[in-house]
This record gives sequence, C-alpha cells and structure tokens, in this order.
Amino acid sequence: MNLRTHAFAGNPLRSKTPKSTDSFSPSSAFKSLKALIPSIPNHPAPSPDFKVLPFSKGRPLVFSSGGDASATPLWHLGWVSLSDCKALLNTRGVDLDENSLVYLGPKVEEDLVCWAVDVSSQEEHGVVLELTSRKLCFVELRTLMVAADWEDQRAMDELAIAGHARALLEWHKVSRFCGACGGSTVPKEAGRRKQCSNEACKKRVYPRVDPVVIMLVIDRENDRALLSRQARFVPRMWSCLAGFIEPGESLEEAVRRETWEETGIEVGEVVYHSSQPWPVGPSSMPCQLMLGFFAFAKTLDINVDKEELEDAQWHSREDVKKAVSFAEYRKAQRTAASKIEQMCKGVERSQSLSTDFNVESGELAPMFIPGPTAIAHHLISTWVDQGSGNVHSKQQPGVSLSNL
Ligand SMILES: [Zn+2]
Repeated sequence: MNLRTHAFAGNPLRSKTPKSTDSFSPSSAFKSLKALIPSIPNHPAPSPDFKVLPFSKGRPLVFSSGGDASATPLWHLGWVSLSDCKALLNTRGVDLDENSLVYLGPKVEEDLVCWAVDVSSQEEHGVVLELTSRKLCFVELRTLMVAADWEDQRAMDELAIAGHARALLEWHKVSRFCGACGGSTVPKEAGRRKQCSNEACKKRVYPRVDPVVIMLVIDRENDRALLSRQARFVPRMWSCLAGFIEPGESLEEAVRRETWEETGIEVGEVVYHSSQPWPVGPSSMPCQLMLGFFAFAKTLDINVDKEELEDAQWHSREDVKKAVSFAEYRKAQRTAASKIEQMCKGVERSQSLSTDFNVESGELAPMFIPGPTAIAHHLISTWVDQGSGNVHSKQQPGVSLSNL
C-alpha cells in the first residue's frame, strides 16, 4: 500500500498560508468577513467567497452519498454558506460573531476561504433539524476516520481538514482563560492564536500540540516484534507501545523509558520512522502528535505493567504478517460508512460505534493490528515487509517511507 501521507496529515487547505497582503490571508479574509456579516443574508457575493464547517461537541457536520446495494456510501464534509451558518446559530439562540469563526485556509482555485465554527448547544439531536432537507448530521471524527477509504485522496483530504478544524476548535474551548493571570482570552489572527484580554498581561497563547512517542520494539536476533494490548482495545487487536513525552526528555529517552516502564524491556538503538497528527484523542488534548520509532531491544524478558497494559508479547514475523488484515479493515470501513448514512437519514441515532472492529462472521485471524489510518499500522507493516535488519528512516528504493 502506498499512502501519500498519514491520515490527518497532508491537509490541502494548509499547504501555504497566504501573505498578509493577499485577499486569501487570515487577516484580509477576517476583515472582509467582518464587514460582510451585518448584511447577511442580503449581501452581494464577495470575492473570495466564504464557506463554513460547523462542529457540535467536537463532531463535524457531514452528509452521505452514493450508498446502494453495490457501493459503500461516501461521507463528505457538510460545508454551509455564511447565511446558513447564521441561521444555524440563530436556532441555538446565538448571533453569528466573526470572532467565533476560525480560519482554516483558502481554496484559491475555487475563490474560497474556509472557516470552522462551533455550534454546540445543550439540546442535541442526531440530525440537524433545520438542515434535514440536505440530510446533514454531526458525526464523531473517529467514526469518519474508520469510514474513510484510505486509498481515496478526496476522503483523506476531507479527513485532514476536519481533523485540523476539530483540533483548533477544541483548543479554543480549553483555552478560554489565561494561564498566567486568569483573565479571559480573545481570538486573534482569525482564530489562529489567542491573547489575554487583561491589558497588563496580554499573554499570547498558541494552539496546543501534545507529543507522544509510539514505537515498535524489535527483537533483531529472533526476528520478532513486541505487540501489546490495552484493556480498552477491541478484542483481538494488538498494537505498538506508546506514551507521552515528559518535560526535559529527548524523544529517544521517552521511547526507552516508556518501553521499560510498561514492559520491563531495555531498548538500545532507536530509529525514527515518521509522524502523524492525531486529533481524535480526548478533547483536553486537542491534537496529539504521534512520533513513530523502531526500538531495538537489548533484553527480552517481559514484565507487563498491568496498570498500563493488559498484555504484551513477542510475535514472530509470520504471525504479525497474518494480523495485517485488510479484509477486516474494509469490513469495518463499510460498516462505519453505512452507519453514517443511516445517521444522516435520521434512522440511526446511536453515536457509539464501539463494535467497529467486532466482525462477527467469517474466519477470524487470532489477532489484528490497527488499520491504515493509524501510524501503528505503518510501523508494524514496514517491519513485516522489510525485515528487522533493514528498517531505516531513510528512504529505500521502492519504499515510500519518508514521504509520509
Ligand atoms: Zn493574562
């Protein structure tokens, strides 16, 4: 499999931020947005035009298309116009305020600037009633991730846009007050940063990223890899070890410490693979950054920390190869895509898709690893395909590693 980027990376709206003099730039776009809002809905079409992606409780608005007996439905981001956005907020008793809109980036070829807005309210319905004729619905980002076809560039682009937008909006929610003086913060630069409103303080606050090391621990001598299970995993799923980086620690030290703490294994050489933004964690961490490594074991005895892990075991290359189970990922993808379609039709109100990977029928592999939208998948499948002696961070002929 040849991914252009990891899921949530490669956001097409972010490739280049226009200079401040450009009409697509955050400051110019914000100025023209601010001038436009009072005249909605009777405004002339501006250039560039604006579209908005609404979120409710961390979930982007989407619609579903194309589902019939033979085809898997496709989800699409539910962009709305500024006037639809104003109407949506009005039904929640809120006026559209330019400061609630967060700049996502331009689509220059379409003469568009894209924004996100949080329309969360106490009263929650699975379907957005005021837009039901368009069959729009708020859906968890994690569900959209499982439902996205990882080989479809359009789907992965939309997933990356939704992930970036969610990370920014959740960060706005958890950074309402200044950490230095306790004053309230106000958005600046079209929501790309915040600033303390206390004139004596004026502390600048930037969007938060939480770095996490994730590592495949390898036993070179016996050609095995260490996979582990957390209690919250669905049955049969095994993955890499992972943990947060502590202040004052290098990435390599974090890899060695986490591996030691969780499994009692000592790690020597640590080799970088690639990184992945991960905006689907808890809302207190708006965006984790997963930093992926191969970690070569110096000792082999496993002593599992039961507080952190349910189990950890060495697995042969052959066994791990069988766990890369594309039939199961495809089945989970179809199930999630169909559920999203049902939700958009107003049939399915359930937001819980904990059974995504609980495939009931068919012959089940004894274990499987996370799907292609997770960096763990790429660490594990790279080792399976390349051999433990050959895993490097540098690109090798025919292997698209460092492109990720
Ligand atoms: Zn302050």
